[in-house]
Amino acid sequence: MSKAHLGLIGLGVMGENLVLNAERNGFSIVVYNRTYSKTEDFLNGRGAGKKIEGAKTLGEFVDKLEKPRRILMMIKAGTAIDKVIEQISSFLEEGDLLIDGGNSEFRDTERRVSELESKNFGYLGMGVSGGSKGALEGPSMMPGGTRDSYKAIENIVTKMAAQVEDGPCVKYIGPGGSGHFVKTVHNGIEYGIEQILAEAYDLMKRVAGINCEEIADVMRIWNNTEELSSYLVEITEVCLRTKDTYDKSDLVEKIVDKAGQKGTGLWTVVSALELGASVPTIYASLNGRVMSSMKDQRILAESILQGPSITYSDMGSKDKGMPLLKDAVILACFASYAQGMDLLSIASKEYNYQLDLPSIAQIWKGGCIIRAKLLKRIQNAYENNSNISNLLTDPWFAEQVNARLPGLARIVSLAAANGVPVPCLSSTLDYINSYRTSRLPQNLVQAMRDCFGSHTYQRVDMDGSFHTDWL
Ligand code: NAP
Repeated sequence: MSKAHLGLIGLGVMGENLVLNAERNGFSIVVYNRTYSKTEDFLNGRGAGKKIEGAKTLGEFVDKLEKPRRILMMIKAGTAIDKVIEQISSFLEEGDLLIDGGNSEFRDTERRVSELESKNFGYLGMGVSGGSKGALEGPSMMPGGTRDSYKAIENIVTKMAAQVEDGPCVKYIGPGGSGHFVKTVHNGIEYGIEQILAEAYDLMKRVAGINCEEIADVMRIWNNTEELSSYLVEITEVCLRTKDTYDKSDLVEKIVDKAGQKGTGLWTVVSALELGASVPTIYASLNGRVMSSMKDQRILAESILQGPSITYSDMGSKDKGMPLLKDAVILACFASYAQGMDLLSIASKEYNYQLDLPSIAQIWKGGCIIRAKLLKRIQNAYENNSNISNLLTDPWFAEQVNARLPGLARIVSLAAANGVPVPCLSSTLDYINSYRTSRLPQNLVQAMRDCFGSHTYQRVDMDGSFHTDWL
């Protein structure tokens, strides 16, 4: 039998679906999984009757691939990747290419690219987004490493990716760990939007007093607007309409209110702090998940700490999509994207990634979890002005911010008056208000620092460094 075009290691949810995607697009594949029974199950199940072969050992797997070999790893991020690299290396030859399609930490990828390239193997760190359905039907892919390594898989990934009006949702991102860095920030933005929609649901439920079906109706209205039309709003409507098979009540109300946070959201925030990028909306979403996991403490605190009791308040007509709340949600989603793009722009300079922001917006338009109509506007904003200081200052976005800021302020004050937490909405309000304020009160912070620690300060009216004997 002729050798296969592509090898895949790791038949988890993503791996299985990516294999079927590649096969559907005309490529032959060899699969390997650490636990062989999974390989057998796949070959006898979803993989049956297709140009897919299995291998029991890594030696057999490598032997079944055409040279130079192209091997996609879809396994758990972390030490598992290093183990597999170590195990497979002795079977590989110069020029063979390993691709890590999992959610690896970008610094790990940076290290692996340089180690593997120094041995004349190719290595790509490729973020893949879209969940199981995206993997099967067409994901968004963010490959980083050398351009030559990308060239070796370009014909495969451009066919496998989601397709939008201006091409496939995959493009060479840049050197080293840049592909995984961009995927990390993608997930940070995703964290933000998920939390924003959860806060909107909470306000509609507890402050406006409407039920899941009615909230789902509002989501449907939002999904028909240019600003909010997106995969996440679409699935929020689905989640809210889904009934429990046991008693036909709203399933979402049966789910424990604890959200996990895996690596990528945390890494986005840590990177932002390291690079001096301001990402408060994204940070608030991460902290929202951390706070959610303190369930036992929250139950105890509810009986000790008191706040205002909730009174019904108007957030605009639900038949019109609750206009004030919609304004707030739109601006918080804008802020999530703006903060993510800003982080990418700062990281690009610091790490010399030379990221092309319009291309990144383009490959996020289809296949991935944060796909949204809005990405066309984001792409345009960076195409029109590659040096834009912040997405929100682009003329179209600025007009939106100016029109909707009173709505966001009203919703945040309503939430505060009712004692309902809205970390992403309130952080967004502070983010925008801070960013549009040319003189902030950090002059006083500087005075205090000079007072207790002689840290010196600069003056608004003279050049130089000054110290005052304050005490
Ligand atoms: P997963 O549950 O993260 O990983 C399962 C796969 O990893 C299995 O094939 C497992 O083999 C293999 N594995 C674990 N430890 C291993 C080791 N030490 N050596 C060799 N193989 C090992 O699967 P997934 O959800 O498909 O995700 C794969 C990667 O894509 C992850 O990095 C994940 O973060 C990322 N990702 C996931 C999604 C998603 O929606 N699920 C979306 C985007 C990206 P065994 O069967 O032998 O245990």
